[in-house]
Amino acid sequence: MTAARVRNRPAARTPRVASDKQLDFIVDLLNSRQAPDAYREGMTILISATRRAHQGHVRDDDPRPMDSTYASTVITYLREDCKPKATEDAVTTEGVFEHDGSVYLVTLSRADRLYARVYTDPNGETKVANWHEPQSVTLTYAPGMVRKLRESDRCSDARQRELGTLTARCIDCNAQLTNSASIARGKGPICASK
Ligand SMILES: [Zn+2]
Repeated sequence: MTAARVRNRPAARTPRVASDKQLDFIVDLLNSRQAPDAYREGMTILISATRRAHQGHVRDDDPRPMDSTYASTVITYLREDCKPKATEDAVTTEGVFEHDGSVYLVTLSRADRLYARVYTDPNGETKVANWHEPQSVTLTYAPGMVRKLRESDRCSDARQRELGTLTARCIDCNAQLTNSASIARGKGPICASK
């Protein structure tokens, strides 16, 4: 290859530096995914260096800024290969929960997924303190709520009894209770024996 041909070769295309939007997205993913610590540390350094490059304040010891193709690779890796961080105290089993004054029944669906329903009185009121007709409460699907509830929201047996007595309904399945012993227990005979 002659020197002239080398000179005439088009300059290698300089890759585009990762955008702020890409960097923000990577930061969000690093916060919400379980990535190896070393990877997380390396990425934090690279992101800071790339942000400084955007502002024209590159330091002598900065690594080369991240290019946008590499940023896409990082995003794909974090989204597809790193599991979401487990939420501390997340609800993983069925039960009765009280959160912000409302009572939720968490059950396992046929597809084996937990979902939450909230006890609602005929006026659409979910706060126990505001129920006008506690004996007519029904269960309403509460989308996404199962992920907001915490294990610390789980009702004690005593609280379940209180709620079941207040509503005269089995707190576990919402069946109407007629027997006075069941009302006192807050649960129907079947649920009480579980
Ligand atoms: Zn029941």
